Amino acid sequence: MTDKKLPFTKSFIEKVIKKYPTPFHIYDEKGLRENARKFYEAFNWVPGFKNYFAVKANPNPYILKIAKEEEMGVDCSSLPELILAEKVGFEGEDIMFTSNDTPAKEFQKAKELGAIINLDDISHIEMLEQSAGIPEIICFRYNPGPLRKTGVNAIIGKPEEAKYGLTKKQLFEAYQIMKSKGVKRFGLHTMVVSNELDVDALAETANMLFDIAVEVYQKLGIKLEFVNLGGGVGIPYKPDQKAVDLEKLSKKIKAFYQEKIVKNGLDSLRVVTECGRMVTGPYGYLVTTVIHEKHTYKDYIGLDACMANLMRPALYGAYHYETILGKENAKNDHIYDVTGSLCENNDKFAIDRKLPKVEIGDILVIHDTGAHGYAMGFNYNGKLRSAELLLKENGKVEMIRRAETIEDYFATLDFSKI
Ligand SMILES: *Cc1c(COP(=O)(O)O)cnc(C)c1O
Repeated sequence: MTDKKLPFTKSFIEKVIKKYPTPFHIYDEKGLRENARKFYEAFNWVPGFKNYFAVKANPNPYILKIAKEEEMGVDCSSLPELILAEKVGFEGEDIMFTSNDTPAKEFQKAKELGAIINLDDISHIEMLEQSAGIPEIICFRYNPGPLRKTGVNAIIGKPEEAKYGLTKKQLFEAYQIMKSKGVKRFGLHTMVVSNELDVDALAETANMLFDIAVEVYQKLGIKLEFVNLGGGVGIPYKPDQKAVDLEKLSKKIKAFYQEKIVKNGLDSLRVVTECGRMVTGPYGYLVTTVIHEKHTYKDYIGLDACMANLMRPALYGAYHYETILGKENAKNDHIYDVTGSLCENNDKFAIDRKLPKVEIGDILVIHDTGAHGYAMGFNYNGKLRSAELLLKENGKVEMIRRAETIEDYFATLDFSKI
């Protein structure tokens, strides 16, 4: 069970709304930092442990700055993400560049920043060499395909259906090629699960990479510098789910590390991760106002937010817990579809959700929007993205991104030519 408590009260949010109208995402700095510290503590047995925060989960510079202050690096996958990281002050090997179908100029920027470049395909070696040159350190993304039987998961799907990464055969060939080009420092990456709560499935990824590290050493004489377990640690979106026990996960990974890495004399190997969701996800909330209710074949609640502010329910059928402020302890004796205004029938934040009786003007808070929430926003149907606020450790609220305006929406158009 996970207690879906909010870090703010109704009266506090009412004051915030007077200054910043709904909808907005608000992030809880205190919760975010405490969780980051717990995460690092669980893995303190790994020399040089680092989580490269996946920028795509929450590409706000103020959030990235907090991640930086908590000793994290960043995982970027596009030119704008690299530039964002640079603006926040990340440099060199604190940046992991994990992209796919990569344009040449992104390799150039990553190389210029001294980032660790993680190649998605064997053919990218040539493109990298021609566009940016061979870097001092290189990482490859491994796709186990049918070799991975356990921990297969709904968002990413079966590894052999996933577009990412090199096959095992290609991986060994790729290390060999890079070695012959004079590279001396190597990493190994994979990402085979997403939003996974099962400790064994998560630990299995480390086990799989440790096996490869041993094989790479035995076959090619290369001692890998790090394995990157990717992201994919899940969060308890539903109140009946439990957060991943990081201590337990760390212990299981440590046991595999002892058994495979230490035993083979490879214990200079670092273990790093690329988690986004579990870092910021539970510490973000989409705050909305109920503007309509409608009773037809079903009972509907209409919010002032829509799937442009949070696409996960429409995209994956994802569950997000909802709280009506001031009615936290009321009985959930009504059943509603909670909708937004986009002209798509899947623009529903919840379907057949049990809630207390909702009234127009109620403040409805959607939980766990701190990762892949605002970030997935879009402008379809002329919908504008909301503001982002930070609830700071000192209790003050700061706007860390203003809401989009109609001028922003029209900014790429030149009306003078029509
Ligand atoms: C999306 C992504 C992540 C982050 O995933 P989370 O589920 O947010 O932890 C990490 N690495 C890569 C390569 C990704 O594409």
